[in-house]
Amino acid sequence: PLVLGIETSCDETGVGLVRGQTLLFDAIASSVDQHARFGGVVPEVASRAHLEAMVPTIERACREAGVRLQDVDAVSVTAGPGLAGALLVGVASAKALALGLGVPLFGVNHLAAHVAVDVVEHGPLPEPTMGLLVSGGHSNLLLVPDVTHDIRSLGATIDDAAGEAFDKVARVLGLPFPGGPHIDRVAREGDQVAIDFPRGLTSGRDLQRHRFDYSFSGLKTAVARWVQAREDAGEPVPVADVAASFQEAVVDVLTRKAVLACSEHGVEDLLIGGGVAANSRLRSLAQERCDAAGIRLRVPRPGLCTDNGAMVAALGAQMLVRGRQASRLDLPADSSQPVEQVSS
Ligand code: ATP
Ligand code: MG
Ligand code: FE
Repeated sequence: PLVLGIETSCDETGVGLVRGQTLLFDAIASSVDQHARFGGVVPEVASRAHLEAMVPTIERACREAGVRLQDVDAVSVTAGPGLAGALLVGVASAKALALGLGVPLFGVNHLAAHVAVDVVEHGPLPEPTMGLLVSGGHSNLLLVPDVTHDIRSLGATIDDAAGEAFDKVARVLGLPFPGGPHIDRVAREGDQVAIDFPRGLTSGRDLQRHRFDYSFSGLKTAVARWVQAREDAGEPVPVADVAASFQEAVVDVLTRKAVLACSEHGVEDLLIGGGVAANSRLRSLAQERCDAAGIRLRVPRPGLCTDNGAMVAALGAQMLVRGRQASRLDLPADSSQPVEQVSS
């Protein structure tokens, strides 16, 4: 079956086409340049950009994939979580398409889609799979018995998301928004053990109480203080060393707890998804630690880690094949949809 997926939860208008488990084409129009000068995504600007980009992006996806809209067997769309106005543009478009084509509509969870996309890269997900979801708004450890309807959160960030920490630290270092990719790049020239930044919730009672939770707000503050102290002393800030040491603190904690969750739950497969999964050091350290622990690691290619339409199509395709119930045409957008609610 051919599934068209629409993603508009943030600033990317994504339209993906998946046939079975094969990605045919992934078209993305981003409004990121329009937000850069504000240092963050402006919801109104994002909604308007989705409206303008929607039809051309659907047309481009079909053209590049070499399919006709009439050949689509189901439409899948991000119903939440995300920016309410942005989600609405995608959901309304998907309803119109599904109604016009007379095909089922699947309203799916953006976070589940970050996990489900890996089937187009590495085939069916082992059941269960452990998911480490690290993105701009979330950092969760997920036990995933079935990505189409059973996802359990073992832990989450108690303050900032990992991507949010990357973006805030990048700002402190004077790097452009969104900062994650810039820190990744700059850190390559730096020394990851130059500065010993804190690893939140990794020892003593904190670890006991928050075994699979994360915390990045203390780390972000520690970096900001360290940089400020340098500036106050009139000394140059070693940007590459700060970036590398900060990045190491984040990926150390992420991978340590992910491996711990796998061993404590007897799960042999770890999947990392979400925008931060594009980080080169996270990918290499995770591989190292999974190899040592006898865990199989899967991470989609970087372009499928950040927001895209293919991930929504990939999840919709799995729902269709599994015979999951389609959504009603009055499907609402839910800006705070919990990760456990895979479809709506
Ligand atoms: P959510 O998925 O929680 O709704 P989102 O959709 O805004 O949030 P994604 O697009 O999945 O988030 O991820 C964006 C985040 O990923 C940003 O914070 C960005 O800085 C970060 N990111 C992207 N590439 C990298 C990288 N190479 N290294 C670190 N962080 C990165
Ligand atoms: Mg984005
Ligand atoms: Fe996302």
